[in-house]
Amino acid sequence: MKSSIIEVLQQYDNFAELKEFSEYGNGHINDTYLLDYEGIGKIILQKINKSIFKEPKKLMENIALVTSFLRDKIEKNGGDPDRETLNLIKTKDGQSFYEDSKGDIWRAYNFISDTICYEQVTNAKEFYESGFAFGNFQNLLADFPVNKLSEVIKNFHNTEDRFVTFKAQINEDPLGRVKDVKEEIDFFLNREEYTHIFNRALANNEISLKVTHNDTKLNNILFDKDTKKALCVIDLDTIMPGVAAFDFGDSIRFGANKGLEDEPDLSKVGLDIELFEAFTRGFLEACGKSLNKREIEILHMGAIVMTYECGIRFLGDYIAGDKYFKIARENHNLDRARTQIKLISDMEEHIEEMKKIVEKYI
Ligand code: ATP
Ligand code: MG
Ligand code: MG
Repeated sequence: MKSSIIEVLQQYDNFAELKEFSEYGNGHINDTYLLDYEGIGKIILQKINKSIFKEPKKLMENIALVTSFLRDKIEKNGGDPDRETLNLIKTKDGQSFYEDSKGDIWRAYNFISDTICYEQVTNAKEFYESGFAFGNFQNLLADFPVNKLSEVIKNFHNTEDRFVTFKAQINEDPLGRVKDVKEEIDFFLNREEYTHIFNRALANNEISLKVTHNDTKLNNILFDKDTKKALCVIDLDTIMPGVAAFDFGDSIRFGANKGLEDEPDLSKVGLDIELFEAFTRGFLEACGKSLNKREIEILHMGAIVMTYECGIRFLGDYIAGDKYFKIARENHNLDRARTQIKLISDMEEHIEEMKKIVEKYI
């Protein structure tokens, strides 16, 4: 074992009992390890990815506040706070993280045993559970004082700001790619209206800022291995003030697409309305009562706006020379932008159906 890791392990209780230490899980961002202590049990240890999270201490403050709030709320509701939320394990000095001699930030969580972590949506039942889990996360945190949270990634879902960046990328056009993608660019420019929906509703106090998760992938939920029900939302690095419809919308964007995000054959891409309904039902069963009338009225627009935002980011990056999203083939980011365009068009066609589904579960 590397001495740098031993330094970290020694910050936590029971170092003498540590019998196993191994890399764990399929995360792409942080380094995750499983520690097994003789006669005591397991914990998860993670090193935060500094190149992505520039202010890891602020991120840890967010997580400490939210997890302790969740713990109290779950206990009050008669749930099991050791299994239904992440709990930070304090260092021997009583801190919720450890900064090692290289300036890396480490944290430890309770290991939630007897769970399954699915990588991809394979059926409507799982997606319903996913909707319920993220809706429940919203609901439990509905009265959390959101002004206490830091914005870990500035302007993450500020679609107006993303649009300004997109236009600047078009103007710069460093590789002369704009002339070949005029149709795609026009698609987004003609729909600029979408960029204002949520900012305007916030400015008019029609909707309010909530705690949002911002990485609502299926593999950020642990399912109970026996009941197959969603048990715990994990991966809280990107919790930030945001709009409920962002978590809802981004889940639909990637989970209810009939095709892959980078599918070159656009005939395979489109909104799977059955999956849309499954997620919406779960989400609203869990948090419908904590959303106001306007938040519900524009919930379905979250799906369109998140897809639009992603689309301009992919197309903008293609124009800028593929600087942000990694590519594995030529025109990869352009393919991704085109799937978002197809998905938006399909959502526009089904917009009345989407609205009706939201109304059905409220
Ligand atoms: P991502 O690529 O989704 O951003 P990440 O690098 O941020 O991932 P996590 O999602 O926090 O890492 O954890 C990686 C995996 O480790 C999870 O998908 C899950 O399988 C497992 N895991 C994380 N925390 C726990 C826990 N407390 N109990 C059990 N398993 C866990
Ligand atoms: Mg994860
Ligand atoms: Mg993560």
